Amino acid sequence: MKVCCLLGHPVGHSMSAVMHNAAFEELGLDYRYELWDTEPERLEEAVDRLRKPRMRGANVTIPHKVSVMELMDAVEVGASKIGAVNTIVNDGGVLTGYNTDVTGVERSLEEAGVDPGGMAAVMVGAGGAAKAIGYYLSTLVESLTIINRTKSKAEELASYLSGLPECAASVSARSLNREVLADAMVHADLLVNATSLGMKPDVDTTPVDGSLLKSGLVVVEAVYNPLKTRLVREAEEVGATAIGGLSMLVHQGAQAFELWTGLEAPTGLMFEAARRTLEGAGR
Ligand code: NAP
Repeated sequence: MKVCCLLGHPVGHSMSAVMHNAAFEELGLDYRYELWDTEPERLEEAVDRLRKPRMRGANVTIPHKVSVMELMDAVEVGASKIGAVNTIVNDGGVLTGYNTDVTGVERSLEEAGVDPGGMAAVMVGAGGAAKAIGYYLSTLVESLTIINRTKSKAEELASYLSGLPECAASVSARSLNREVLADAMVHADLLVNATSLGMKPDVDTTPVDGSLLKSGLVVVEAVYNPLKTRLVREAEEVGATAIGGLSMLVHQGAQAFELWTGLEAPTGLMFEAARRTLEGAGR
């Protein structure tokens, strides 16, 4: 039996165990996924336990994605560029950190038939999700406007992304308010919500008023609970292409599964397992 786990605090809301255990079972693998609620002061100890032979790896979530990096033996280049690790692989006691969120957003766009190349992108948010999504988009889009409540965080991210050699976009930072959004949305081809606005229980909130959405726009939502946020609903109502947050979540999990097992992940089954769990139990 091989064990993978989630290191986070709290972890009770996570969809990872549901997705991965369904996938392990489907492929008949002798693997189990556990939730390890880990307070910051116990992170080092938990990471040490990952080196044991029965452990194959871990996912990492809030609040450990950055602090876990210095506990790794190696960090893959993509994760060090984003400055966060969300997946760990244990190879004979040697721990390597990866970030699969970039693949998550890349595959979710591909699956929806969206090529962001040359688009004008607007991303609301500058936290953890925004770093991975912003990194991916900055290598492809023509312009990336990062809009955040705390403007200094948007500026920091914009300046970091602009300085990367692979950055193809003109990246700018703005403060989150209605005028700025209205102005940015006029020419936008792609809108990302990388804030927690719209997340349960605050399901009536949205980062961008529905009146600023239009048909032809692509909307990428990071929030996956509820399955259909107000932003996704309002985008669909005006005929925009809307990609819900569960798609990115499943695809980042699928890459982690592939890193641990070396096998192709059953993404359709993982999506259904997470969808059913989110729909049921009043989540
Ligand atoms: P985070 O690092 O804490 O960042 C939160 C972001 O939301 C910040 O930009 C913050 O702005 C903004 N924000 C929070 N409350 C706000 C409010 N009332 N008004 C305006 N802006 C607000 O969190 P995160 O890890 O990026 O997660 C953000 C969301 O993405 C969560 O819902 C999370 O579940 C989801 N997520 C999804 C995936 C996926 O695979 N689908 C992956 C990661 C995260 P300030 O900087 O001003 O505080």
